[in-house]
Amino acid sequence: MAVIGFIGLGNMGGPMAGNLVKAGHTVRAFDLSKDSVAKAVERGCVAVASAADAATGADVVVTMLPAGQHVRAVYCNDGGVLSVAPKGALMIDCSTVDVDSARAVAKAAEEAGMAMVDAPVSGGTAGAEGGTLTFMVGGPDAAFDRARPVLEAMGKTIVHAGGPGNGQAAKICNNMLLGICMIGTSEAFMLAKRLGLDAQKLFDISSKASGQNWSMTSYCPVPGPVPTSPANRGYTPGFAADMMLKDLKLSQEAAARAGASTPLGAAAESLYQLFSNAGHGGVDFSGIIKMLDGDMT
Ligand code: NAD
Repeated sequence: MAVIGFIGLGNMGGPMAGNLVKAGHTVRAFDLSKDSVAKAVERGCVAVASAADAATGADVVVTMLPAGQHVRAVYCNDGGVLSVAPKGALMIDCSTVDVDSARAVAKAAEEAGMAMVDAPVSGGTAGAEGGTLTFMVGGPDAAFDRARPVLEAMGKTIVHAGGPGNGQAAKICNNMLLGICMIGTSEAFMLAKRLGLDAQKLFDISSKASGQNWSMTSYCPVPGPVPTSPANRGYTPGFAADMMLKDLKLSQEAAARAGASTPLGAAAESLYQLFSNAGHGGVDFSGIIKMLDGDMT
């Protein structure tokens, strides 16, 4: 069992750290929020006073932070994780960040004599709590092999997506597609309503036909067909529209840098921005159907 420094104990990181404790690891936990640290201690973590303290003497450091700038700062600043963690320690960044930040920090880790993987997740807070997350992992083979048993304590599906940054690349490609599919599915249900076609009928037909997709069959944006979908509980998240917007922005920034044309991704970003600007960023991302339907009550 390893000594693991865990930095970033928010909605995702808190339960993930708890699952590492359940697997028998010693987890030295730090967050800027004292409340989050207190909750992690309730889950069996040991509170430490700084990110550097979490990394000092650790076999593995796991981070679950808001964005690229936080990840760069926590690892690379003077006195940051890379300057204090033991040589040869394994760094696992599970945050969703831009590909460039992931690759820059991985390079800095390598130069500091440490192994690193980027390992963003899908599965949301329910997956974090239940230990059923999917991890998309970028990094060298040897680092992936070391990270796998740690990730298995927090997730069910662990996929090696290639070299450094490729976990992030997989995450933003997937979520760009998810945003586009959710809007497309919402348009279909909205049109069906206007044409006098019952939502359940459209679901029964389309979920067995060529329009079938996850946004319909597992996360249907209208109440009824999929009882567990947020549409049945007033669109409480789930996966908040602002989190989808974050991932769509990352995908569009990456597309611009890579010279890729992603017009539907750009349209999805714009629609989620409009939804967020209208004050609905905290609503589940499937709630965008209400905006498309002209019903923002
Ligand atoms: P969150 O805001 O709940 O948690 C982030 C935590 O990081 C906060 O507790 C904050 O205090 C802490 N933090 C920020 N800067 C810090 C620093 N310098 N040192 C220590 N702690 C610091 O966010 P979350 O929902 O847990 O998401 C974390 C990451 O996971 C994000 O990158 C997000 O995009 C990604 N993600 C979230 C979900 C989801 O459903 N919430 C799903 C998939 C991926």
